[in-house]
Amino acid sequence: MRHIMHITEILKKSSTSVSFEFFPPKSEKAASDLFSAIKELEACAPTFVSVTYGAGGTTRDRTHELVLKILSDTSIPPVPHLTCVGHSEAEIETILERYAQEGVGTVLALRGDPPRDQPDYDRSTDSFHYAIDLVKFIKRFNDNQRHPGGSFGIGVAGFPEGHPETPNRMIEMDHLKAKVDAGADYICTQLFFDNHDLFDFRDRCELAGISIPIVAGIMPIASAAGMKRMAELAAGARFPAALIRRVQDFADSPQDFAAAGIDYATEQCQELLDHDVAGLHFYTLNKSGATLEITRRLGLA
Ligand SMILES: Cc1cc2nc3c(=O)[nH]c(=O)nc-3n(C[C@H](O)[C@H](O)[C@H](O)COP(=O)(O)OP(=O)(O)OC[C@H]3O[C@@H](n4cnc5c(N)ncnc54)[C@H](O)[C@@H]3O)c2cc1C
Repeated sequence: MRHIMHITEILKKSSTSVSFEFFPPKSEKAASDLFSAIKELEACAPTFVSVTYGAGGTTRDRTHELVLKILSDTSIPPVPHLTCVGHSEAEIETILERYAQEGVGTVLALRGDPPRDQPDYDRSTDSFHYAIDLVKFIKRFNDNQRHPGGSFGIGVAGFPEGHPETPNRMIEMDHLKAKVDAGADYICTQLFFDNHDLFDFRDRCELAGISIPIVAGIMPIASAAGMKRMAELAAGARFPAALIRRVQDFADSPQDFAAAGIDYATEQCQELLDHDVAGLHFYTLNKSGATLEITRRLGLA
């Protein structure tokens, strides 16, 4: 078993962590394109890369496959996302056991959402009701010394613009604090486009006594269609006027639109760096171009 550095140590290594998120590819061609992108992004020496976890069986297997490939073919620590919705304790235990044996050092512990095609899904029968239950489960796994490489580092999600299920932002912060107290090592945020949301979130965390690193989720806007899709998501992003002003004239000019999206994201990241953000986490959509350009301009590549 190779030595696994704990995520707390990994995040301490540089003043600002740079990390990338991928989703499991659905075809051979998509897998090969993704791996080319990962190899290009490896040049930025990312702190870690994370791999999302889907709602169904086959996409879940693909998360595992991609994590294994990152472990075997790169030197970047992979952080698999793990959602507990719909999973039994025995299933989660098997997944943790497997990742521990394979040398995975960190997991992003999430609740997830019920499958979209099951609007009547009854969450009350689930073994895990909230992400905190998964955090506690992983903590017990660690405490029982089940990880041969040490213990799992644990990331959790945070929502600078707020999570739609908890409109009361004070109660939402109590829930986040509870996840942290249960054993989370860092928070990775949902994407946002207005840095004030992140700065305010970070201040509210500090006031609540949350002192673990907060890694900021960044998504360069690549197209008008992508922006529309994002706006429609349940935890939809708020597009500030400054961003709309930047891209609105380019709806019919995809290249100019994407370039404006890169400009905006670069300025957003620069301001975050100027305010000592603990990390920048890029939602890459499995492509390297925009992220490479932004990290190059910021001098992070
Ligand atoms: C960085 C990041 C990565 C993500 N990756 C994935 C992924 O790979 N796969 C995927 O399916 N989804 C993913 N998601 C989406 C996420 O699963 C959903 O947003 C989900 O609705 C919330 O997950 P959570 O872990 O924040 O849940 P929780 O922390 O459980 O919170 C969910 C809601 O419940 C509330 N809550 C928490 N505890 C309690 C309590 N005790 N009583 C009442 N209410 C409570 C919270 O305030 C919040 O509104 C990701 C989100 C982020 C930000």
